[in-house]
Amino acid sequence: MPLKTPGQYVESLRAMKIRAYVGGELVESVVDHPLVAPHINTVAKTYELAHLPEHQDVMTAISHLSGERIHRYTHIFQSPEDLVKKIQMLRLLGQVTGTCFQRCVGLDALNATYAVTFEIDRDKGTDYHERFKKYLARVQEEDLMLAGAMTDPKGHRAKKPGDQADPDQYVRVVEQRPDGVVIRGAKLHNTGGINSHEVLVLPGTGMQPGEEAYAIACAVPADAPGVIFVFGRQSNDSRKLEKGCDIGNPRFGVVGGEAMIVFDDVFVPTERVFLNGEVEHCATMVNYFATWHRANYGGCKGGNADVLIGATAKMTRILGTERNAIVKDKLIEMVHLTETTYASAIGSSALGYKLPCGSFMVDPILANTVKQNITRNVYEIGRLSHDLAGGFLATMPGSESLDNPDISEWVRKYYTASPDYDVNERIDFGRYIENMTSVTTLVEAMHGAGSPQAQRIAMLGQANIDKKIAMAEEVIYGTSDVPGLPLPTRRQTDN
Ligand code: SF4
Repeated sequence: MPLKTPGQYVESLRAMKIRAYVGGELVESVVDHPLVAPHINTVAKTYELAHLPEHQDVMTAISHLSGERIHRYTHIFQSPEDLVKKIQMLRLLGQVTGTCFQRCVGLDALNATYAVTFEIDRDKGTDYHERFKKYLARVQEEDLMLAGAMTDPKGHRAKKPGDQADPDQYVRVVEQRPDGVVIRGAKLHNTGGINSHEVLVLPGTGMQPGEEAYAIACAVPADAPGVIFVFGRQSNDSRKLEKGCDIGNPRFGVVGGEAMIVFDDVFVPTERVFLNGEVEHCATMVNYFATWHRANYGGCKGGNADVLIGATAKMTRILGTERNAIVKDKLIEMVHLTETTYASAIGSSALGYKLPCGSFMVDPILANTVKQNITRNVYEIGRLSHDLAGGFLATMPGSESLDNPDISEWVRKYYTASPDYDVNERIDFGRYIENMTSVTTLVEAMHGAGSPQAQRIAMLGQANIDKKIAMAEEVIYGTSDVPGLPLPTRRQTDN
């Protein structure tokens, strides 16, 4: 059965020669680096849960290529039910890890490439789709982790790719060879790239005629020559280098361990190239990817919020405020915000529709609405958590003060609230809340899967305002009413 164990995932990474810079230094092995290890731990959970019988239904699927049971993270969505199960999987993983588990970007990139290669072949008689299916079969068989790489640096935002002063601001093909292409450029904000087996590169935006060199989709092994990862910093990340209670989410970290990926003239053989110059299909690829990924946030952030609500509710017990009606109401509001976005994600999946290739797309306006709500609700849920937990989140002494006999007694004495709880619990849960509601988490909720305005533009395009005007005119004037209704329409009365 093609399902890796967590141990096999970790060992497979260890066997790779990933060129990664963390804290400005080239690291020997990403697996053993304390700033990367929590993110690897998180992904390992995605592998672990797929082996548990109680989670098999949401964590695995039957491959439409091989008929074998595969990880849902390598599956092509075959039905609205598949889309719903994906959201359920994300909620579950969010509840188990409290953070971003990274593999969804690769999953949605796989699905976008599957769908668009079919459409290119249909329109142009190329053979990208069969080529991609062979690649996909290997991904499923080996249960690989893929990083989807979309976001180009973009340089001057008012200029198109070909008009940039530096032509490398968007990933581009610098050489077409008989056996493949050579790509140059970088992708930013790459979730999980540093601990992935493969990087699936997609265009970051729609392209115009004349921008063929920038129209490229391809798969690159994460340790291919010329691929370089530069790991990003996070708020409070140096705490991962410490021991004790200040780390926050010690086993799973904060968001996805994002990195910049540089492609320093990377050769990609033809069998790994899935779009090469077809500018008219780039926008569809971006749209498909973004729409699937925006729906995801109602699942993963819902699971993360479940853990945060739990930590906050526990804090109210530690403080002795849990019976207060206002406190209960604020917890209810946190639940309400969480379930609202989850419901939209489930709804957009249940209303999924069939694409020309036979796979299924979520309902676009609901998916964009999910992500738009996430850009607000995650902040609001964090605000309510801060409100209930109290100002000590920002002022409590570090864990080393508990180790110093000169002061530890005072810290214990004056930070103990309800005598039913040890002071360490107050600090552990306080640090978790602080860590999971601080800058990096919030910014990720704002900009992940596209910045808020991108969703609003998409929503305007999908809202069909003209149709809504026609609805209003019909309700007010009743032009299509059949005779016999007890109340005449205004037009009928006017006449
Ligand atoms: Fe998956 Fe959510 Fe992380 Fe995106 S932010 S990769 S949807 S867990």
